[in-house]
Amino acid sequence: MLGLYVHIPFCSAICNYCNFNRGLFETGLKERYVAALLTEIGRAADGSPADTIFFGGGTPSLLEPTEIAAVVDACRQSWSLDGDVEITLEANPETVTADRLAGFRAAGVNRLSYGIQSFRDDELERLSRLHSVARAVEAFVMARVAGFDNISLDLMMWLPKQTVAQWLESVDALIALGPDHASMYMLEIYPNAPLRDAMARGQWSVAPEDDVAEMYLCGLGRMDAAGYAQYEISNVARPGRRSRHNLKYWTDGEWLGFGCGAHSTRVGTRWKNLSGTEDYISAVAAGRLVATERRVLSAAERLEEALFTGLRLSAGLDLQAVNDRYSVDVWSRYGGELQPFVDQGVLFYDGKLLRLPREGMLLAHEIMAVFIG
Ligand code: SF4
Repeated sequence: MLGLYVHIPFCSAICNYCNFNRGLFETGLKERYVAALLTEIGRAADGSPADTIFFGGGTPSLLEPTEIAAVVDACRQSWSLDGDVEITLEANPETVTADRLAGFRAAGVNRLSYGIQSFRDDELERLSRLHSVARAVEAFVMARVAGFDNISLDLMMWLPKQTVAQWLESVDALIALGPDHASMYMLEIYPNAPLRDAMARGQWSVAPEDDVAEMYLCGLGRMDAAGYAQYEISNVARPGRRSRHNLKYWTDGEWLGFGCGAHSTRVGTRWKNLSGTEDYISAVAAGRLVATERRVLSAAERLEEALFTGLRLSAGLDLQAVNDRYSVDVWSRYGGELQPFVDQGVLFYDGKLLRLPREGMLLAHEIMAVFIG
């Protein structure tokens, strides 16, 4: 079944490390954007089955619940939504109130993904986030009261000045709240990020790489002990609470993206919408195509992507299934280069399954480089 992604490119302020497609919130622009989204969704309608909707951003929780409801309704009219459809809203703690959360729930949202990033106020300040730890906890509790029984929390590790012990404080605080799912990413600071200047001014540095490995392994170890199962390099979940939407990206699935900069992949074809918010709105209003860079993926690209994404999963890659789909014997082709990783114990291969153990996940880029043609 299809996944539907809806991009909401607005934020109340721009975080100093952010490299996403987003801009500052402005009510008039947002209203015109939502109208364009409804038009784009209506035009793309073909009634195919879909079982996930994911509002990503930006900060989708800046939309009014009535606007989220209108988009969900447009999706319902345009596709055949599964009775058990997963509808995720990415939310920032400072944007929610009890009423807004109840409104999102009534609009059909049944999964919330909060961008928490850290449970230490000093770290949140260094990242120029707008919320405090107290606000994050309050937002989580309010969401439970509003009836959300599927909540994911995002944390980031390798923050400026962060020690292993401080990272584990955040992990413990997350476990104490008891979300249903968690994502743990390493902060990557892109070359021109304002955070780089702030780090230079404040003389903040990041921990050495050995410490990052310890952060990753100890953090996930604590999640294991608390009953969460890792299913992807950066994601853990309680039973039945994996992100069905994100799994489509990692299991060769198909999805349609709406809104500026959204990507789509369907029947071996990939395209990307116009990135600029105003460009997107004008193109929709004029009846022009918003999809750009449309191209059919070559067999080699599809295989490469299946290997890259499949190896991100804890379950690993079933090489027979890859052979059935792409007519390529992966081990015959890459085994010579992969064997040293198997010998080091950072890659597992038993003749059928190729899988990264946790220590290997830390070397994922290096190992996956083998597949780059
Ligand atoms: S809230 Fe998220 S999308 Fe918005 S600026 Fe911050 S990191 Fe970027």
